[in-house]
Amino acid sequence: MSEPFDLVIRGSRILVGDGSTGARVIAAELGVRDGVIATIVPIETAPTDSAPIDPAPIDPVPPDSAPRRAGLHGLRMIELASDEILLPGLVDTHVHVNEPGRTEWEGFASATRAAAAGGVTTIIDMPLNSIPPTTSVESLQLKRSVASGHVFVDVGFWGGAIPGNGGDLLALHHEGVFGFKCFLLASGVDEFPPLDAAEMRADMATLATVDARMIVHAEDAGIIAHAPTPTGSHYSNFLDSRPPLAEVTAIQAVIAAARATGARAHILHLSSADALPEIAAARRDGVALTVETCPHYLTLTAEHIPDGATAYKCCPPIRGAENQDRLWAGLVDGTIDCIVSDHSPSTVALKQPHGGDFGEAWGGISSLQLGLSLVWTEARRRGISLEQVVGWMAWRPADLVGLTDKGRIAVGAAADFAVFAPEQTFTVDASTLKHKNAVCAYDGQALHGVVRATYLRGERIDGEVPVGRLIRRDA
Ligand SMILES: [Zn+2]
Repeated sequence: MSEPFDLVIRGSRILVGDGSTGARVIAAELGVRDGVIATIVPIETAPTDSAPIDPAPIDPVPPDSAPRRAGLHGLRMIELASDEILLPGLVDTHVHVNEPGRTEWEGFASATRAAAAGGVTTIIDMPLNSIPPTTSVESLQLKRSVASGHVFVDVGFWGGAIPGNGGDLLALHHEGVFGFKCFLLASGVDEFPPLDAAEMRADMATLATVDARMIVHAEDAGIIAHAPTPTGSHYSNFLDSRPPLAEVTAIQAVIAAARATGARAHILHLSSADALPEIAAARRDGVALTVETCPHYLTLTAEHIPDGATAYKCCPPIRGAENQDRLWAGLVDGTIDCIVSDHSPSTVALKQPHGGDFGEAWGGISSLQLGLSLVWTEARRRGISLEQVVGWMAWRPADLVGLTDKGRIAVGAAADFAVFAPEQTFTVDASTLKHKNAVCAYDGQALHGVVRATYLRGERIDGEVPVGRLIRRDA
């Protein structure tokens, strides 16, 4: 008998593959060695199984591995329950951890515990709202030293592009950040000012020399300056203060800069579906443009947000139901690449100011732990498959940041998994979520899909031992 694997997982439903090899659900045994998936062997199952299983073997399952009886030997053996499916660990490339400097808003330990509880095994931290922001090598090193030893999932870092730090960008790139974030209007924190279109273009010309990506909060400052002010407790006032045209105009500027410089560009948290035709056209022209959206834009609608409910405030805002339908269509037709949380908490006092004033409240939604269940609940209602959801939340965001050994179950990939029970229901209770401040726009919602366990490099994440690593773009 050959050397036992460190871990063997056996289940009637394992989601293998990715966008390029083809994703499918198979009955299989999977052997893990040294934190990496070493083998995947299809197995025979009873013919009455509910989920149809395509018998034709494809990558990543070796072509000679015909279904056979279970037989892999592991030092640890896990048998999935009949209502469970093994998914790759999700990759969330848009998380605001806020430590150091605003650690009372969120921190590395609490954010990564929330991630693990939601089946997310890799996050990429945004360069703001920590103090200092990640706009120099020195501040990146400070962030790494603060995070080190306190993370329960893998954590990488975005750099920041602000006025005056153009000379820091390449050094940050060589220190392993995954790309650079900029704003085109006030970010909400003074220490992270926006770029104007000319500054963004100049920085993108720099980034193009090393094929690094600029990721952009795309709302146009001029249009928002002339829109109604958001003061008061009416959600409709807040919505009117951030019109769709502000997004469309800013996205046009990003497309123009990407076209002129040849740099990669990425549109963060797309809310207005009005921008989709121009995004699709630019991509057809060969502009290196990618796009993300977030669970809140896909599952919440302006029509259902009560006045004074500042837990729902985020920028750009949650829009109407008809817009939401078009965002889903943009995902299905491939114009939108991925779904990431934009987890952006603050303290309860800042998020829910007295009187529920949308002008005063912090803009940001905390959903790191709930993303998979939120998106799956809505996708299921719309007749969209779990394989598609996992594509948007696992391998596409992984590919976006070049982590091609993450976000997929394949031989040679990291043994990062979420054990998911897609038909089990639960009700969100904000007070039990793992992120630091118990505010959540989804409190009280009934959702489908429970994450029962999360594994990182073959180790179950228990919330006690911080098994995560700090990762770099080039590692
Ligand atoms: Zn954000």
